[in-house]
Amino acid sequence: MTVWEQLAKEIKHFTGSVRELRVVSDVTPAEIRRELESRYDFRTPLPLEKVMADVGRMLRRWTVHVTHPRYFGLFNPSVHEAGIAGDALAALYNPQLAVWSHAPAAHELERHVLRSLARNLGWDPDTALANFTTGGAEANLSAVLAALAERFPQIGARGLGTFDPRLAIYVTADTHHSFVKIARMTGLGTEALRTVDVTPMFAMNPEALRQRIETDLQSGDWWPLMIVGTAGTTTTGSIDPLPELARAAACHGAWFHVDAAWGGSAALSPKLRPALTGIEQADSVTWDAHKWLSVPMGAGMFFCRRPDALKQAFSSSTSYMPEDSGADTVDPYAVTVQWSRRAIGLKVFMTLAELGEKGYATLIEHQTAMGDLLRERLQLQDWTIVNMTPLPLVCFTHPDIEQGRTSTRRILDTIYERGRVWISDAIAGGQPVLRACITSYRTEPSDIDVLMAELELARKHSW
Ligand SMILES: *Cc1c(COP(=O)(O)O)cnc(C)c1O
Repeated sequence: MTVWEQLAKEIKHFTGSVRELRVVSDVTPAEIRRELESRYDFRTPLPLEKVMADVGRMLRRWTVHVTHPRYFGLFNPSVHEAGIAGDALAALYNPQLAVWSHAPAAHELERHVLRSLARNLGWDPDTALANFTTGGAEANLSAVLAALAERFPQIGARGLGTFDPRLAIYVTADTHHSFVKIARMTGLGTEALRTVDVTPMFAMNPEALRQRIETDLQSGDWWPLMIVGTAGTTTTGSIDPLPELARAAACHGAWFHVDAAWGGSAALSPKLRPALTGIEQADSVTWDAHKWLSVPMGAGMFFCRRPDALKQAFSSSTSYMPEDSGADTVDPYAVTVQWSRRAIGLKVFMTLAELGEKGYATLIEHQTAMGDLLRERLQLQDWTIVNMTPLPLVCFTHPDIEQGRTSTRRILDTIYERGRVWISDAIAGGQPVLRACITSYRTEPSDIDVLMAELELARKHSW
């Protein structure tokens, strides 16, 4: 058997059998290190067949299987074969996308898919610029850098220094924590993150936003650089009131960024699309393909309706980079964070081509239906749902937790030990809650049954 036959067999076997595996691994670092040290000193070369079989075995044994239909976790998807094949082709041809002229095929495939997805956002792709990123964190960083470059081009050369007034980014406590790193990386400082109160259902309160901006402006210390609306927060899946946020941004001359890392994929479902109303008014959008578009890791997307801001933020010229290929093409290195860049978008192109928009809509709506089923089942058994979202993410608690007979932690300990499902916990509205998100298009009603049985067992067991 060649290594390729072996790989094909591994892909087929794993995909067919993942449902039978434990979702959770309980390995210790010491156990893995011991095995690695005993078998890999990197002095004696080993046959690739043997290495591949061994690496596959370790990954199967020592991973939380996020592609498992009973992984109810943190937006990490089950992947489609098209995505695996796309990543393999990207590795094989290794196209370098820093400049258009080095990788015309890969570049245009990416452009084609990004333009199509931009239309789903309600955008005119001719007036926008989009690129694939490593993930949502890079896309959010791109947004802040673009907003800074457009509003204050002089900062590019002079730096922020003691820029006066200070520049504010309006967020909520549930805005993704990548903004904390971004505030540090850009030199804005974490004080620039102005936290706006949320409604009882965890969405930004537009009245609180208005007041916060006004207070900041009156103080003379702050100028509103950006308002961040999240479409699908990590904790509760809430969608901020995007039209109101767009209005506030327009009123104050702030950049309006929508972080739809997970929720953006709702744009492909005619049923869910209305929940994203307002996204078409954003200056920029973060949308991760490696979340709800179910492609392998390392595929974020950044959409921007102000291409000149990206040129201002990222343009660069060097003697060694090939010449710009012409007026109708864009060299990614000159409009994005990255320099050498892999063909991130091939797996997205191939998956979208295979499924079609309708196919995606069907899978997304199936997951939403599984989320609704989970809500129903929880309520039937006296669990209390604490969040409200059209997306398939459920935060819940139980009188046993609220009255201290058990805790979310103790319930999770039992669940992880048994290994049949994976869920997480979180703090919502100051209360510890359990959190289950339908992240696999393979999740079926029978998987919800298993989750319910595990929850009940763990709750009783943990008294
Ligand atoms: C996941 C997520 C991010 C971060 O994206 P990465 O792809 O992990 O870098 C940012 N914002 C939201 C809302 C997310 O769900």
